[in-house]
Amino acid sequence: MLFAKGTKMYSIAHKKCPHCHEGEFFVSRNPYNLSKAGEVNENCSVCKRKLSIEPGFYYGAMYVAYALAVAMYVSIYVATNVLYPSASTLVQILLIIGGLILTGPWLYALSKMIWGNFFIAYKGVEPTEKEILELGKRQVPKA
Ligand SMILES: [Zn+2]
Repeated sequence: MLFAKGTKMYSIAHKKCPHCHEGEFFVSRNPYNLSKAGEVNENCSVCKRKLSIEPGFYYGAMYVAYALAVAMYVSIYVATNVLYPSASTLVQILLIIGGLILTGPWLYALSKMIWGNFFIAYKGVEPTEKEILELGKRQVPKA
């Protein structure tokens, strides 16, 4: 396997919960299922931790999506110049627009996975000692 479990690349490549790398990150694994495109599960189905740290957390993924779109734009531009050097500017523009439309849903999903992994560290399925301590503090002491 290229990316071992426990690394951020594993979570991103397999669309798994960044906390435990077991549960699903998205409501639908298929980014081209447009009615559910990029919808992130509220909680992980396996470790139950929150996937959205705070409301609007994934708005920041827009910056990542923008960077990915620019990278895609440059890749298509370079590929066109190398593979099809006689292409007119119009053909190049159409190929770039077509490429961005085709890869858009995938780039959008990928940007959320990358954003989530910026802020969420791998902890495994079982609660960590720190999490157990924090949970204990929040519980009302028994009378
Ligand atoms: Zn999880």
